[in-house]
Amino acid sequence: MSVSARNVAVLGATGSIGTSALDVIARHPQRLRASVLAAGSNVAALVELCRQHRPDHAVIADSRGLQALADGLRDAGLKTQPHSGDDALDALVSGDACDTVVAAIVGAAGLPSTLAAARAGKRILLANKESLVLAGELLMQAAQEGGATIVPVDSEHNAIFQCLPDAHAHQGLRRILLTASGGPFRGRARAELTQVTPEQAVAHPKWSMGPKISVDSATLMNKGLEVIEAHHLFGVDGDRIQVLVHPQSLVHSLVEFVDGSTIAQLGLPDMRTALAVGFSWPERIESGVAGLDLLAHGRLDFEPPDLQAFPCLRLAFEALAAGGTAPAVLNAANEVAVSAFLQRRIGFLAIPALVEDTLAALPSTPATSLAALREADAQARHHAGQAVATGAAGARA
Ligand code: NAD
Ligand code: MG
Repeated sequence: MSVSARNVAVLGATGSIGTSALDVIARHPQRLRASVLAAGSNVAALVELCRQHRPDHAVIADSRGLQALADGLRDAGLKTQPHSGDDALDALVSGDACDTVVAAIVGAAGLPSTLAAARAGKRILLANKESLVLAGELLMQAAQEGGATIVPVDSEHNAIFQCLPDAHAHQGLRRILLTASGGPFRGRARAELTQVTPEQAVAHPKWSMGPKISVDSATLMNKGLEVIEAHHLFGVDGDRIQVLVHPQSLVHSLVEFVDGSTIAQLGLPDMRTALAVGFSWPERIESGVAGLDLLAHGRLDFEPPDLQAFPCLRLAFEALAAGGTAPAVLNAANEVAVSAFLQRRIGFLAIPALVEDTLAALPSTPATSLAALREADAQARHHAGQAVATGAAGARA
């Protein structure tokens, strides 16, 4: 390892993005080193990653796992220090233990650590889109004040980031074209979605991802969250963001300039490309992803999204337009609904029904502080949770 290697904290290390990030890190021992690994509750998986990557620190969110983590690290003969809880994670993210943070915790649970990294001026490879949906203004402001660099690693936003290299490009930007695979139920009518199961919903045709984002892809809420994410990252309002369904998932997004130019980024659907860009930008490093053989693929198709069958995308555009606490409510209600769907407590079509009902029950108020956003998040979780428990708001749909 050279002295100038980046020390990387991988938050959500045991997940899909975390695993891909560690794969890229391991390819570049001269320039990248995993110094902190953090996970939610799977101690055995975290210890195994520590064996492979030998970080200085390992953090398990669930404090009940701390003793098992300490035992596992000791039994493995590792010097890695065990920690648990949000405060320990925030301190490690803010301090000298890392200069780069892969923010890949799923859901609103990722907000505190992402904010801590922003305030501490780290390079943030941002996968945790929910933190931007929940508190986009505050997070972008914290990054600016803290001197942090946010490189989006959501593939679409990473594509746009690559197409908008500097402030001049931003000035001439007319609109953003966000591509969507359409998910596993693309082409189905609403009536054909009543009986779909969690297994069918998480079987994504093009990307291999964690369960929550896979369900979001099936409802198109993922694209809705990404519209809000793009708004915060690139300063573009919803009426300048168009969603295009592109089933091959090779064009990761496009930007259109005032002179009529449209620029796209293409590549195989593998998150390691975006992560490599995040680690090395403005340089380029190997990611393990092969180049794109366009002759083998043959064609690139585009179609409009079906908002009748997939109302979540419409709800996200509406929440963005409403502003204030509405995106936080949308996100929280969706997290509750997706979790209930994965537990087979509600049907697939109840996901948009619950989100719509929660947005109607909790009208948007100005989001002036983190406390106001957290309160909106908590109220939305409570409202949606009640609806699941009582079968209200189409929760059995
Ligand atoms: P995943 O379910 O595979 O992994 C989630 C990770 O978060 C796990 O390591 C889990 O242990 C950890 N975690 C959960 N709760 C935690 C908590 N309270 N504290 C600490 N760690 C916690 O999810 P994923 O697919 O890797 O997605 C992670 C994030 O990246 C999500 O926000 C998702 O939207 C985003 N993202 C993922 C992909 C993808 O290809 N998987 C693409 C774009 C964006
Ligand atoms: Mg994406």
